[in-house]
Amino acid sequence: MLKQNRKDLPLDLSKKLNVAHINMCTEAEGPHKRMAIWFQGCNILCEGCCNTELQPIVTAHIMTLQEIVDIALESQKLYGIEGVTFLGGEPTLQEGLSELAKSIGNNNLGTILFTGKIVELLDEKLVYSIDLIVDGKFDEQQIDNNRNLIGSKNQRIHLLTDRYKKDMDWFYKVREKRVEVNIAQSTGVFISGDVL
Ligand code: SF4
Repeated sequence: MLKQNRKDLPLDLSKKLNVAHINMCTEAEGPHKRMAIWFQGCNILCEGCCNTELQPIVTAHIMTLQEIVDIALESQKLYGIEGVTFLGGEPTLQEGLSELAKSIGNNNLGTILFTGKIVELLDEKLVYSIDLIVDGKFDEQQIDNNRNLIGSKNQRIHLLTDRYKKDMDWFYKVREKRVEVNIAQSTGVFISGDVL
């Protein structure tokens, strides 16, 4: 298990990230109320991916790190979110992700990352900036019906700080279908959580 050793990262709040969607408050993307951010673009291309519309590496919504942090703070104020979940697409394609995670963490919000890469291959700065990582490609030959939100059995949960230690039951309790349907004016109906 990797042990978090947070170092001070220089933060460049003008750095830009390519965001597909933001849900300011959801209970379907990890323990507690959370903000969820789906990044556009993925180069892993797992067979059976349920987010194929997020695979193309094209421009979606280009946002600065400061803009995203401001939305997270607004969500904290309005909805009392406990943290933020990063999904995709492949969030680690975003160069500013470690700085975004660090900045969110500096505001006492937890961070959860879903990545198709294995944690051993991630940038050390990123790993040091996140509280919990679910890693690995989605493997449709190994569907996981026992853990919430985790698609296949090869995907691992890494607790990098103690923040979510007490919340591991959320992933392991009897699987419930957690699906939220959000209707966004610009993008139409958007479904998040476990796939039906
Ligand atoms: S890493 Fe995620 S978004 Fe990318 S292809 Fe695999 S399941 Fe889809």
